[in-house]
Amino acid sequence: MENSISLYNTLTRKKENFEPLNPPHVGLYVCGPTVYGDAHLGHARPAITFDIVFRYFQHLDYKVRYVRNITDVGHLENDADEGEDKIAKKARLEQLEPMEIVQYYTNRYHKNMEQLNVLPPSIEPHASGHIIEQIDMIKKILTAGYAYEKNGSVYFDVVKYDKDHNYGKLSGRSIEEALENTRTLAGQAEKNNQVDFALWKKASPEHIMRWPSPWSDGFPGWHLECSVMGCKYLGETFDIHGGGMDLIFPHHESEIAQAVAANGKDHVRYWMHNNMITIDGQKMGKSLNNFITLDEFFSGSHQALSQAYSPITIRFFILQAHYRSTVDFSNDALVAAEKGMTRMLTAVETLAALEPSEKSTVDVNALRKKCYKAMSDDFNSPVVIAHLFDGVKMINSIKDGKEQITTADLEVLRKLYNDFVFDILGLRMETKEASGNDEVVDGLMELILDMRKQAKENKDWGTADKIRDGLKSIKIEVKDTREGAVWNTID
Ligand code: ZN
Repeated sequence: MENSISLYNTLTRKKENFEPLNPPHVGLYVCGPTVYGDAHLGHARPAITFDIVFRYFQHLDYKVRYVRNITDVGHLENDADEGEDKIAKKARLEQLEPMEIVQYYTNRYHKNMEQLNVLPPSIEPHASGHIIEQIDMIKKILTAGYAYEKNGSVYFDVVKYDKDHNYGKLSGRSIEEALENTRTLAGQAEKNNQVDFALWKKASPEHIMRWPSPWSDGFPGWHLECSVMGCKYLGETFDIHGGGMDLIFPHHESEIAQAVAANGKDHVRYWMHNNMITIDGQKMGKSLNNFITLDEFFSGSHQALSQAYSPITIRFFILQAHYRSTVDFSNDALVAAEKGMTRMLTAVETLAALEPSEKSTVDVNALRKKCYKAMSDDFNSPVVIAHLFDGVKMINSIKDGKEQITTADLEVLRKLYNDFVFDILGLRMETKEASGNDEVVDGLMELILDMRKQAKENKDWGTADKIRDGLKSIKIEVKDTREGAVWNTID
């Protein structure tokens, strides 16, 4: 059958046949966003990568429980357990409650994910909703002897753990190497060793996000939430854990150590990591002024972009690279992706209108096999897309009468494109309809605002107000400015 999948396991550094622990169930955990800013390409890539994994397993009739967390506490500004909490800092700067920041950016993240046609996970747990479970795991680790308390904070004893279990088996780093790479920062004197990391931090007086614990009023360390929520919803040992490559060390390495120390058994069977995104060959970063948010891509408002790009174009572009390769974004590459995607979606429309013949001169079953083979080979989306483009040539040749296809083969081909283009790759028809509607709406609004202007000139205030209130009731707000009336939609 076609449901055997091979995937690259970061833990063993080779491709392995995937065997679920409890077939047909698959447990999938992916590290989600820390919600303190707008989503950018760095958020889109893991979301789309694991959306494909989620979709393909489901397509092959596996029952997937997909957990993707929301980090809303404990993620400090640097990985060495120092600096301000990212959420709390944003809350301080904006003079809002931390949970207002969390809600605001979670809502915006969800909207972006929906635009990208990323399916919602089965469970989306928040770190702040699992403080009790995190305290419980710290107690277990203390009991097992792999943690120690200092002045109200609790640290994981990496050196002791390493002697028994090998800290570094995921990243391939040795403790000596980790020591070399760890800068000594103020406040770290508390730790027995620089490589140790915080499980619980005592909150300083100005720290606003805090909870009571047996050790102090404080907050959990960032790595802890994922071990805890993975174990809670998928079991102490579960199938697949994913995330960006940048999380391998120290985040995922520490997740393994915490779970193994607490439970005394293997934590995750397959680790999958997506590679990074660069922009014009450079690493993305706020300081490099190449930090483009998803909303900026969708509106075309960033100076590096020549036009707006639809969410599905962004999605298609990301899928044109294998998830373990880097993706380099440039405006030109996006223009090319948009063209390619349009060609693919136009062919799907052509396919729907094709007429069958008495015989087939094309081999649709071979094409179908190739698509499944590529997808089952570590989710090789670029190869799948290449095969689908071969099929586009086939479709266009049939349309032009150069090739022929039977009714039965036509059915296979239509199902293949429906399954792969829409269900598995998650593309959707969007651009034409959307832009067509926008033009109609713009035209109508111009007409309505013109009528309102005339009513006001005739001092017909009743009509002018009726138009304004009527628009407001359908969530369109009109504002009078010096340049005339302007309108926008309100959420
Ligand atoms: Zn995580």
